[in-house]
Amino acid sequence: MPRETMITGDALPDDEKRRDAALRPRRLSDVIGQRQLVRKLEINVNAARKLKEPLGHILFDGPPGLGKTTFAMALPNELGTSIQLTSGPALTKPADLLPFLTNLEEGSILFVDEIHRMPRVVEEFIYPAMEDFRVDIVLGEGLNARTISMPLKRFTLIGATTRSGMLSGPLRDRFRMHEHLEFYTVEDLATIVTTNAKKLNTHLDPDAAIEMARRSRGTPRIANSRLHWVRSFAASESDGRITRAIALAALELAEVDPEGLDKQDRRYLETLMGVFDGGPAGVEAIAATMNLPADTLADEVEPFLLREQFVVRTPRGRLATHRAYKHFGKTPKPTEGEDAGLFE
Ligand code: ADP
Repeated sequence: MPRETMITGDALPDDEKRRDAALRPRRLSDVIGQRQLVRKLEINVNAARKLKEPLGHILFDGPPGLGKTTFAMALPNELGTSIQLTSGPALTKPADLLPFLTNLEEGSILFVDEIHRMPRVVEEFIYPAMEDFRVDIVLGEGLNARTISMPLKRFTLIGATTRSGMLSGPLRDRFRMHEHLEFYTVEDLATIVTTNAKKLNTHLDPDAAIEMARRSRGTPRIANSRLHWVRSFAASESDGRITRAIALAALELAEVDPEGLDKQDRRYLETLMGVFDGGPAGVEAIAATMNLPADTLADEVEPFLLREQFVVRTPRGRLATHRAYKHFGKTPKPTEGEDAGLFE
């Protein structure tokens, strides 16, 4: 088992994350789906071992809950090394990085979640660490200031981000692998809930697993949270076994609709269609109307709605599609020239 060090408050998991982490696959071979990524990581791990070199720095990007942390945490298990966890917002100045850098062991991993929120001064401080395994520390001030170069153990930086577009070019270029995590198929999500139901000693019928997978927004974390809810519902309202009927009743009560959209998704679409007449509307305006941070909408709500084409992005803002109108039993507004193709 590798040692894990959680140092910053920001990196500490809340309740849901802790529950999720208990279901987290520990090894690459236990990870479900993302076959190509798993294969690439296995090759890099093997190569690092044979060449006796640290693994190259890796950047994972994609919406929350798709496995960025899971992949990062499986790697030290494969390499037999340790991992330290922190996050961009916790690193407000270069000195915040020092405890992590001085704790490094040869070949160990430093995981920085939300790396796009790391301030520029910290980013610049980390460049020589990534490139040459050293940092430049300024001692003293004014005329007496001098810079010393501190050598570091050779390590691997793993960054995770929901917004790779917000990363500066120089930082992005310093990662050897840049992997984008995609939403999962219904089959993979069904395998995830089935595997996890077993871990939780819960009987789950295969057709119930499929229905739950269909309603999980392509996201393992959501599949796990649906599983926990349906399991509680089954225990309270029935004999604890999850059948298709129990799963559907539980999800209906949780206001998850047949497309897997939850209350927040529906509020977004209703705002876009109702308040903004279907759009185009900027994400900031939609967020302000919903009284939510624009980041939450852009990172957590929109990616799935865009993928499923309930919404499209245009240069003038977000537009609700025919699919969105149909979902709510509404008549789509007449389409205009340039956008018409998207709404056939
Ligand atoms: P992210 O870091 O992208 O927000 P996580 O890695 O924390 O997402 O994933 C959330 C949870 O989903 C994990 O705790 C794990 O239980 C589950 N999970 C994610 N990816 C997979 C996968 N490929 N196979 C099985 N479970 C997964």
